[in-house]
Amino acid sequence: MQPAPAIQERNTDLAGAVVAMMRRYGVVGLPRNYEIFYEALSGSNPELSLAVRGLSRRPTQEELDKIGRKFFAQNHEENIVGQARDVLANKLEEIASILRSERSHIEKYGRILDETTEGLSNINVLSRELLQKIVGAVASATNSTIDRGKHVATALDDKSAELENVKSKLEEYKRLADTDPLTHLWNRRAFDRELARIYNSSKGILFNALILADIDRFKSINDRFGHPVGDSIIRIVAGILQSSVQANMFVARTGGEEFALIVEGASEDTTYEIAERIRVLIEQTPFRDRKTGTNYGKVTVSMGICMASEANSPEDLYNKADRALYRSKLNGRNRVTRYSGMVGRGKDWMLYKTD
Ligand code: GH3
Ligand code: MG
Ligand code: MG
Repeated sequence: MQPAPAIQERNTDLAGAVVAMMRRYGVVGLPRNYEIFYEALSGSNPELSLAVRGLSRRPTQEELDKIGRKFFAQNHEENIVGQARDVLANKLEEIASILRSERSHIEKYGRILDETTEGLSNINVLSRELLQKIVGAVASATNSTIDRGKHVATALDDKSAELENVKSKLEEYKRLADTDPLTHLWNRRAFDRELARIYNSSKGILFNALILADIDRFKSINDRFGHPVGDSIIRIVAGILQSSVQANMFVARTGGEEFALIVEGASEDTTYEIAERIRVLIEQTPFRDRKTGTNYGKVTVSMGICMASEANSPEDLYNKADRALYRSKLNGRNRVTRYSGMVGRGKDWMLYKTD
């Protein structure tokens, strides 16, 4: 979506307000701090705004980074990867040192064998005693090498267990960086990657589709019941989406109350049926507080779908599905619109923006 000129002006004002607020809080002007305050003031993430409001007057960098790690995991990637890289380097050095010492021991064993072979070739008739001495020396060197071999195997086992540990920490971090903390669905970052993958896939883009969904009149839900209730409604909708996905689908929370579903290997009709099924499921779900029984009323979503074959790029696909979604809003919400079926795919979706 292109920002309207008024929004751009607002963004400039916002930037000034962010800097002023950071000064007031005595926060160092690091990009990662700026991002926290920018998002908090823009109000696009109420959970983050609440977290910033909860900060003390002079927050420590540690407190800020705690918020940063929760909401912008990708900014902390370098730190985490850097730490893991240091651990990996140490473990590899330890393995190299085990192997170096093993090598010197094997060289020593080789020297003993050489010396005893030499001893054997220098005598014509082997005395029983001499032979016993030679065999004894070889046997003792061999036993010691076997022992060392066992020791090396154990040491290497330990090191590989430690390396596995680092590997699973990295995997855990990767999962975290791709996961939306509120709903545990994939986040926008993972979604962008997945959408790009579809366009680069050797299977081609035919029969791949994008469904975008946006909760209707969500602002009024927040206004009537408060943000925490808004959050739990987002979670319930996410749960319905999650329970509706099959192996060929990928579901993400792409923004506040916006979700995206990538469907692979489906016709437009099938995609439409999937979207309709989810829409009806959400419409029919009772949204209530489990403890107090408070009824939050009907929650609905508007959706837009577009087939990848109708778009030239991931961005184009997203924009077209978004236009179909806004057509759903324009036509009264709680409905699914196909981009292909939109008559006059002009700029009428802009009308919605002035709503
Ligand atoms: P429409 O039917 O046109 O989509 O109306 P709407 O009110 O849903 O649309 P709009 O995009 O104007 O409002 C979305 C609101 O969602 C604005 C923002 O305050 C709220 N929001 C965004 N992210 C979150 C979140 O994580 N939690 C909560 N509780 N609210 C959020
Ligand atoms: Mg929205
Ligand atoms: Mg909405």
